[in-house]
Amino acid sequence: MHELSLAENVIRIVESAAKQSRAQRVTRVRLAIGVLAHVDADTLQFCCGLAARQTMLEGAEFSVERTQGQAHCNGCEQNVVLERVGIPCPRCGSFDLQVIAGEEMQVLDISIS
Ligand SMILES: [Zn+2]
Repeated sequence: MHELSLAENVIRIVESAAKQSRAQRVTRVRLAIGVLAHVDADTLQFCCGLAARQTMLEGAEFSVERTQGQAHCNGCEQNVVLERVGIPCPRCGSFDLQVIAGEEMQVLDISIS
């Protein structure tokens, strides 16, 4: 499952950050996923809980936010906001779009103890 490998990545990133801060435990993780990423937020949240078992993130609370997508339109040469995959340029209706943001995942912040 795609979300599970993403979740395992999240755990690794957060764990190494937490270790650098000499944390004992991570209690909360805030994630951001671009709306254009083919990721289901609820599934990712669930998978993070699974992947966190037997790590310093065990029992941590995960929250997932969606961030806006952006594309460059080759039709009107503008950067436009994209709310989801598969829709045309909101300015000129062209489908000739190059996604420039909204497919990425970020760890926004973590709470440690
Ligand atoms: Zn356009």
